[in-house]
Amino acid sequence: MITTYHRPQTLEEAFDLLTQSNTLPLGGGTLLSTPTTAPVAVVDLQSLGLDLLRLNGNELQIGATCTLQSLLEHENCPSALKTALKLEAPLNLRNAATIAGTLVASDGRSPFSAMVSAMDAKINIRSSNSESQILNIGEFILTRPNGLIISISIPLNIKSAFEYVSKTPADKPIVGAALAQWNSGRTRLTLCGYGKSPHLAMDGAEADGIQEAARNAYHEAQDEWASAEYRMDIAAVLAKRALESLQ
Ligand SMILES: Cc1cc2nc3c(=O)[nH]c(=O)nc-3n(C[C@H](O)[C@H](O)[C@H](O)COP(=O)(O)OP(=O)(O)OC[C@H]3O[C@@H](n4cnc5c(N)ncnc54)[C@H](O)[C@@H]3O)c2cc1C
Repeated sequence: MITTYHRPQTLEEAFDLLTQSNTLPLGGGTLLSTPTTAPVAVVDLQSLGLDLLRLNGNELQIGATCTLQSLLEHENCPSALKTALKLEAPLNLRNAATIAGTLVASDGRSPFSAMVSAMDAKINIRSSNSESQILNIGEFILTRPNGLIISISIPLNIKSAFEYVSKTPADKPIVGAALAQWNSGRTRLTLCGYGKSPHLAMDGAEADGIQEAARNAYHEAQDEWASAEYRMDIAAVLAKRALESLQ
């Protein structure tokens, strides 16, 4: 339950507020505003100008408070990322939910997190008492550090693909394969559809062995939605399909 609401006008003011106990950044509020019994103070980020989307060389820099829908509609948003965004949440939620809030709240079923993980996104994050630092997405997903996400950067000079299987075409995947490939041949495959975080199945100098890597990554991926055997088979098929459809 939100008991205190702040709307700072500067980043410094926001950092000061965030040093107070039990105080969290508020993005789109789609998760934070759901009913709970625990009281929480929130720092609304909407007046801080963190909603910019801009090209920076070969990268797309995505401000923390960009909504999922504004990213989806941006002319430089790669089509594989658009596919993942559409699966992340329906339109009404995409219009409110921010990319930082989504990343922070994401679990292993998140297509958006899986796709930016395959793209080896960089997270610009700042804790209240330190300089901002750039974290690799892998490090961010593993450690889930506290701090205010300022922006996320993804490379645009790569090929990417997102393939998935789900109960219905618009449902979050039971298995999703997010693939990115650099001109050098470097190939990263991240799986989603299971567990607490997307799973980096492969980061290799080339794509050889991608199906085996996909299969191995999900050997314990059993839950109420699917058996591990099913996920292993499907992950291998989707990895191959993604490799064939890279663009
Ligand atoms: C009907 C409904 C269905 C939903 N279904 C799902 C679902 O299936 N799966 C799912 O994962 N979620 C679901 N959600 C939750 C939510 O929509 C998503 O997680 C959403 O993408 C969160 O984004 P937000 O910007 O609204 O985050 P907020 O609610 O504003 O914040 C979410 C978290 O991120 C933190 N945060 C926000 N911005 C920053 C920042 N810049 N830096 C650091 N931390 C930050 C907040 O402090 C909070 O801990 C659902 C919500 C609703 C209302």
